[in-house]
Amino acid sequence: MIANYHTHTPRCNHADGKERRYVERALKGGFSELGFSDHTPYFFDEPGYYSSFRMRPEQLPDYVETLLALREEYRDRIRLFIGLEAEYYPKLFPRLLDYIRQFPLDYLILGQHALYNETEGVFSPRPTDDAKLLDQYRNQSLEALETGLFSYFAHPDLFCFTGDPRAYERHVRTLCRRVKELDLPLEFNLLGRSEGKHYPDPVFWRIVAEEQPKVVIGCDAHNPAAVWNPALIAEAEAVLSGFGITPLQTVPLRPIRA
Ligand SMILES: [Zn+2]
Ligand SMILES: [Zn+2]
Repeated sequence: MIANYHTHTPRCNHADGKERRYVERALKGGFSELGFSDHTPYFFDEPGYYSSFRMRPEQLPDYVETLLALREEYRDRIRLFIGLEAEYYPKLFPRLLDYIRQFPLDYLILGQHALYNETEGVFSPRPTDDAKLLDQYRNQSLEALETGLFSYFAHPDLFCFTGDPRAYERHVRTLCRRVKELDLPLEFNLLGRSEGKHYPDPVFWRIVAEEQPKVVIGCDAHNPAAVWNPALIAEAEAVLSGFGITPLQTVPLRPIRA
C-alpha cells in the first residue's frame, strides 16, 4: 500500500493526534501519497441541531491552512492532498458546496453516515430490516456519486441491513454495476475491520468480486498509527486476494471546483 485518502483530524471530535504525526506515520510506511478527508462541516436548517461527529464550518479555514503548510514543508517527501469526507444530504448539499468551494480542496469522498438530511435520525450503521431504507441508502449514495464530485465511496457497506438476504444481494449488485459504470472505486475500510464492526461485510465483498468495480483500501485513520498498520493492511490484502480482488494503488482525484 502506497497511498491512503481516508484520514481524519481531531476536529471531528473523535480522532486524536496532530496532522504532522499522521504525515510522519505515512512516511514511515513508505507511502507516496496521503490524503486528509476529515468529516466535513455541514449547515443544518434546524436551529440548534448539533452534529457532533464533524468539524464546525468555522474550523475549515484552519484545517486547510494547517494542511497547506504541511504540504509545503513535506513537498519533497510525500504528496499531500486536502479533502473532506462528506455525506450527500440533498437539501443541504448545495449550500455545503458553495462554502467549501471557497477553499483550495483537492477532493471529496462519500461517507453516507445518515439518510435523508441527517436530522431525521436515520443512521446507516444502525441495524434495520427495512428494505425501503436500504433502497434509500443506495439511491441517495448513487445520486451523490452521479454528481461527479466524489472521488470514491467510503465504507459502502456501512448500512447494516438485517432483512431478506435476497434483497441485500440485489442491492449490492445494483450498487456495484452503477459504480462500475461511473468508474468510481469502492473502499475496503480498515477501521471497520480493526474494530470488529459489521463492515467490511463478506457478503458484500463476494458480490463486489463478481461484479468487479474498482476497489481501494482506506485506512479511515482516526489516530496516526492507523495510517500505517502493517498487520492490518496485510490481512486486508489477503482477504481481498482471497476474493480475487486487486485494489488500486492510487486513486485519481476528481476536482470539486465549479
Ligand atoms: Zn470518523
Ligand atoms: Zn472516515
